[in-house]
Amino acid sequence: MLEILPKVARLQASYVLGKPLALPINLTVSVSYRCNSRCKTCNVWQRPNDDFTLDEYDRTFASLGRAPYWFTFSGGEPTLRKDLPAIVASAYHHCRPGIINIPTNGIQDKIIPTHIEQILQAAPASEVIVNLSLDGIGEKHDQIRGVDGNFERAMRTYAGLKALKASYKNFTLGVHTVISNFNIDDFEDIYHFVKNELQPDSFISEIAEERVELDTVGTGITPSIGLYQPAIERVQEGMRQSQPVGVSRITQAFRDRYYDLVKRTLVEQRQVIPCLAGVASAQIAPNGDVWTCCIRAESIGNLRDFDYDFGATWRTAKADALRRSIKAGECYCPLANAAYTNMLCHPYTVASVVLEVGQRTRANMLKKYRRTPPGRMLPVVSINQK
Ligand code: SF4
Repeated sequence: MLEILPKVARLQASYVLGKPLALPINLTVSVSYRCNSRCKTCNVWQRPNDDFTLDEYDRTFASLGRAPYWFTFSGGEPTLRKDLPAIVASAYHHCRPGIINIPTNGIQDKIIPTHIEQILQAAPASEVIVNLSLDGIGEKHDQIRGVDGNFERAMRTYAGLKALKASYKNFTLGVHTVISNFNIDDFEDIYHFVKNELQPDSFISEIAEERVELDTVGTGITPSIGLYQPAIERVQEGMRQSQPVGVSRITQAFRDRYYDLVKRTLVEQRQVIPCLAGVASAQIAPNGDVWTCCIRAESIGNLRDFDYDFGATWRTAKADALRRSIKAGECYCPLANAAYTNMLCHPYTVASVVLEVGQRTRANMLKKYRRTPPGRMLPVVSINQK
């Protein structure tokens, strides 16, 4: 994790100067629009397919070198691609990312755990995070995601994935909930089900956004702040009372700040902290178009036109124009993927996380010390000793 600090400094300089001095550390690779879900919050499956081949990905990843620290392989449903393990292995071979993140709907319960195990074996030095999508419990989940039996299959996939945890230390199993107008009233039940029954390593929720990529602009899926705020604040309260250990203390502190950012973005309707999409983060669409982010989904160039050289695509005039537009605050959104990189590049946010984690660690140590019965601190002396 510490190795990204010099990269962050270059990205901050890129943002200030308005020139790309480095390639993005956070890259989302959408491997296909094909999807076997029919979610009420997404129409991406209706888009035409023109997917990159494995060879095209291999050439692109070679051009990126060690720049990306965090890869997300998304879709559509990424596990529908039979060559997903090979695509991830190629990214690992060329880029050695610290984090590989894969969301899944969990429908292919017989295939997904096997493919994830292949990925875990192919990327032993990366933290592989698989996030199972869960937007409701039982039939409610099936209704929102438009597939009968989805919940049962997702639970079988979850069990299959959980079994991998005993063998792979680099595996984080998470649950991801999209909070939309279809499930905002059930959100607390979902949260408690996940926390008490599934007990994943992490739980993330993201507010449903209207995205060009998902063809959902104007669909009214985003809950109002009046509905979202009380629901998310109860979750935040639960998080703050928990006792995470190790790296989870840091990820939880960032997550807490992310939820604050979402609330403020909904109310203030502006970039609450500077957005470094197009500088620190980017997305590659299935056909090789490079986007600064999936909300705007405006191409800065297609990798096929630049001989699969990501750097050349990154330095186009179109890319510079988009960066200027973003920096001028001509857009705002609560997109989680971009927001986490934005926070990492925002000195005030990083400082507040470091301070909080330090204070919580100290408080926990003091609590542990005070819990120790005073008598146990003294040497045991038997009065019968001769
Ligand atoms: S604020 Fe949102 S829409 Fe604008 S560039 Fe950043 S991620 Fe994209």
